[in-house]
Amino acid sequence: MSIRDTRRKLAEETDDEIRAAEAQIETSTKERNILKLAQSVLAEEPRAETKCGLTLHYALTSGYFQKADCSECGETIQGYQKNWRYCPVCSSTIVTTETEETPNDRLARSAVKEAVAAAISS
Ligand SMILES: [Zn+2]
Repeated sequence: MSIRDTRRKLAEETDDEIRAAEAQIETSTKERNILKLAQSVLAEEPRAETKCGLTLHYALTSGYFQKADCSECGETIQGYQKNWRYCPVCSSTIVTTETEETPNDRLARSAVKEAVAAAISS
């Protein structure tokens, strides 16, 4: 094999090695990020968990009550109370509450949610 052919062949092999090294670096970076996240979760103080039971009963209401959409779990909760500190569905801490000015954003969100659900099920 001539020197030129040998160099060309070695250059191709070097390209492959460079691609493999880059892929390895990418994988290592992903692993590092996952491990960092796991480390930060493990470093959190354990939260005290209190357990409770709910007694459900029917009540007739008249007038308005508020529904709330949780930004974390996306669920709609009926009968929001001002003293709630956690989302009743996902237990996320409620940091802000705001009243919508127009229903447009909510209707758009719900349309997107339905479209995504339809796309997934088809
Ligand atoms: Zn929630």
